[in-house]
This record gives sequence, C-alpha cells and structure tokens, in this order.
Amino acid sequence: MALKDKYDVIIVGSGPAGIFTALELTGHGNCDILMLDKGRKISSRKCPAREGKCVNCDPCSIITGWAGAGAFSDGKLSLSPEVGGNITDYISAEEAEELIGYADDIYLKFGAGPEVYGLNERRIEELVYEASRYGIKLVPCPVRHLGTDRAFHVLKAMYEYLIDKGVEFRGLTTVEEVLVSDGEATGVRARYKNGEVTEIGANHVVVAPGRGGSLWLSEQAVRLGIGIRNNAVDIGVRVEVPNSVMDHLTRDLYEAKLIYYSDTFENKARTFCMNPGGMVSEEHYEEGLVVVNGHSYSDPGLRTGNTNFALLISTTFTEPFNQPIEYGKYIAKLANMLTGGGIMVQRLGDLLKGRRTSPDRLKKSTTVPTLKSAVPGDLSFVLPDRHLTSIVEALRAFDKLAPNLYSRNTLLYGCEVKFYSSKVEVDNRFQTAVKGLYTIGDGAGITRGLMQASVTGIIVAREIAG
Ligand SMILES: Cc1cc2nc3c(=O)[nH]c(=O)nc-3n(C[C@H](O)[C@H](O)[C@H](O)COP(=O)(O)OP(=O)(O)OC[C@H]3O[C@@H](n4cnc5c(N)ncnc54)[C@H](O)[C@@H]3O)c2cc1C
Repeated sequence: MALKDKYDVIIVGSGPAGIFTALELTGHGNCDILMLDKGRKISSRKCPAREGKCVNCDPCSIITGWAGAGAFSDGKLSLSPEVGGNITDYISAEEAEELIGYADDIYLKFGAGPEVYGLNERRIEELVYEASRYGIKLVPCPVRHLGTDRAFHVLKAMYEYLIDKGVEFRGLTTVEEVLVSDGEATGVRARYKNGEVTEIGANHVVVAPGRGGSLWLSEQAVRLGIGIRNNAVDIGVRVEVPNSVMDHLTRDLYEAKLIYYSDTFENKARTFCMNPGGMVSEEHYEEGLVVVNGHSYSDPGLRTGNTNFALLISTTFTEPFNQPIEYGKYIAKLANMLTGGGIMVQRLGDLLKGRRTSPDRLKKSTTVPTLKSAVPGDLSFVLPDRHLTSIVEALRAFDKLAPNLYSRNTLLYGCEVKFYSSKVEVDNRFQTAVKGLYTIGDGAGITRGLMQASVTGIIVAREIAG
C-alpha cells in the first residue's frame, strides 16, 4: 500500500516504546499514525542463530523489526520504577508507579500471564538482610515473567490490534534523517530496502530506535543542535550455572538484582537480566558486532537445567572522553576477533588459573553451555583488568548468597555490553529542543527495559494527544 504524503505522527522504531506510543494514541481519537522500522514485521522475524547458526541476516531479526529487542527478549516486566531505566529523573515516583500499573494492565489485556514474582514480602526482607551481611545490596522488584515464547505472542497481538485500528506499519525501512524546518519537526527521510529514498511529512515525530539505533540518534541530535550527555557504559560477561546454584533466590524473586562494589577498584558490579531455566543467546549489531545476552521460555517443556545472568561493571567516563558506545563496541570486537566472529566462553576455574579454556577443558565442565556456538577462549585477552578483577571479586562475594557460584565450572561468556550510552536532552514529556520531535526508550538513554520503554511511549502519546 502506498504511503500518504503526511501523517499526524510518525514513529521511528516499533519496539515497546514505539508500540505503546501507538497504542495510547489510538485510545485518544482519530490520528493518522505511521510506524517505520528498519527490521521486518513480527511474523517474518526468524533467527537462524536460535536454531544453531547465525547467517548474518540483514537486518538482524533479533533486535530489529516489529517489537524491537522485545520480540525475543525474556519478557520480564519489572514492576518497580527503580529498575529498568531512569524515568524517575523525568517524572515523579508516584506517576511512574501509576503508569507502570497502567502499562502492566495493557500487557495483561494482550495475553501476559497472571503470575508476579517477588511479592512475598517476608521472604524478600530475609534475603535483603542476608545480602547486607556480605556488603551486597539486593534491590527488590516485583517481576511479571512473560517468557520469550509468550512475549512474542503478546507483542504480535499488539501488532494485529494496531493494524486493525488503522495504524500503518512499514518494515525494512530505515529512517536516515529527521526533517526539521524553523525549529519544528516536519517529517523524515527514509530508505527502503531496495535503496529507494522517500520523504514523508508529519506534525510530530517520535524517535524510539532502541540501543541498536542509539548511535544514529546521537548523530541526529548533534546535527539538530540537541544536547547529548554521556551515559554509563556497562561491560561485563554473562554467567551461566546450574539452576541449583541460584534456585533459592530465583524461586521467590525470579530475578535477584544484586549490587556489589568491588574490593580493588570499588567499581559498581551488578547482576542484570537473570534467566532461570534459560538459554544464553547472541545479539547481533551492525558491522558484524556480536554480543551475548540471555532469555528463557515460560513453557516448562522448553526450560533448561541452567540459569544465566549478566554481570556488568558500570563506568561513566568524564571529559575529555565522550565516545562510550565506541569504547564498549571496541571491547566486544576484541572478543569477536579472538573467536573468529562470535561469542567467547571460559570456565571460571581456567580464568583464575590464567589459562585458556580449550574445547577439551570445556568438555570437562559439569555446567554444560546452552550457547553451543560459543568458542572456548581466554577472557583476560579481552576485558580490561579493572573489569575482570571486579567481575571475579563480585562472583566471590555473591557466592556467599548462592553457594558454588564461585566454582571452577561456572561459565563466563563475553562480552555483554549495554549500549545505552548517550542521553539525549529532553523535557519531562520527552520533547527535544526541536518542537514536535520526541525521543524515548532505550535509544534515547532514558530506559533499559521493556516496562520503562513502554511507559515513555504512553507519556509521549498523551502529550501529543493533548
Ligand atoms: C535477548 C534480550 C533479552 C531481553 N530481556 C529483557 C527482559 O527480560 N526484560 C526487560 O525489561 N528487557 C529485556 N531486554 C531489553 C528490552 O528488549 C529493551 O529494553 C526494549 O526492547 C527497549 O525498547 P525500545 O522500544 O526502546 O527499543 P527496541 O526494542 O530496541 O526497538 C527499537 C526499534 O527501532 C528500530 N530502529 C532503530 N533505528 C532505526 C532507524 N534509523 N529507522 C527505522 N527503525 C529503526 C529497530 O529496528 C528496532 O526494531 C532484552 C533484550 C534482549 C536483546
């Protein structure tokens, strides 16, 4: 179907932030909405890497297309404003809580399961207390777990609903430029997969390009004179252990959010994205960059015997350095270089002995890796000493809460890098200095998870609808 010359709202990026903008707008009366995404529509998103081999699809189906990085995510909806981003820097904690409840109801309406973990207050208090004895902070956060399988269906149901409501979606379309005239957004210049370039007008442009599009967004901001600030860059590994090591934490919490300040460097080390019974997975970015991630299914038949989680070291660089994304990519590329283009895995025991994990040593591991494509190697050739030391010290500390985590058979996959680097300057309704141009979600450096990304979409939609 041919596109119109002009829309009320163009949404760049159809991840959770873009989807919730559209969902909320359709509830506020008639509005011509066009959603553009460089990836495919959800029913065409297939990832060969999930069946064993990455064939470098262009664009990568894991992070681009309808539902963005949410499509194959673990689907953990964090129901606390303290987790998954910085929305409380823009709105009050009360407003954030109310909007999280509102967005959670929408997820439920589209098929999310009823179970919420982390509500057993007595047990949570006990765990927080136990953690504090070892200098560890445990951040309580109720979690609704969709699972990768259900998350996909929920987000697909949202697609069908929006198309039915008259929202137009065009996949395999990359927005190259936001068009601005006299300080006001007027539309976008986009390129279709066949190379054809088009200009489409709009009264409002909402840019929600996710982590994969954050560098492009920073370039747009610089070109349009919108301020950007360095965000922290989180670099680390994905840890994999048998379920039995983490069970007593994940049973009640689903995700144990642990923070520890490392002994040598006092760097913040934190766990993130815990997947009980889950699988370690690859995340592909432009220029062939591959980083590690993880997810799990809600279907008990698809669960594995392992739990995985990210262990990340946060750094906020100060002047004169202002390329944290490039720094993170550089580290991740080192791992890719040493493995011939993929993810590296090392046993903790080998790392501590200062030797490479060879294929033979990996075979001796009682923890069987769920990411079969990972190449055994030596992470000390990849991660800076500061990061590696902090990771080892944090694992040693967390072992007090999860005995046997600091075991020679614990697997470390590298690298896990979170690219929520540049914070684009926006007001408390996420409008930039350019009138009618809004930016939200992970790509704008505001959020780091499904729920907060969704909330930013609702806020922008309400602002546009007036
Ligand atoms: C494997 C994995 C597991 C995860 N598990 C969880 C979890 O359990 N819980 C949780 O809260 N979060 C999880 N996350 C993170 C979560 O998916 C993201 O926080 C969330 O999707 C961010 O939403 P967003 O809309 O801001 O961006 P995204 O979901 O990244 O969507 C951005 C979209 O913009 C498109 N785009 C980018 N640039 C352009 C352009 N120039 N033109 C057109 N389109 C463009 C992209 O193709 C993409 O579809 C996970 C992520 C991954 C990869």
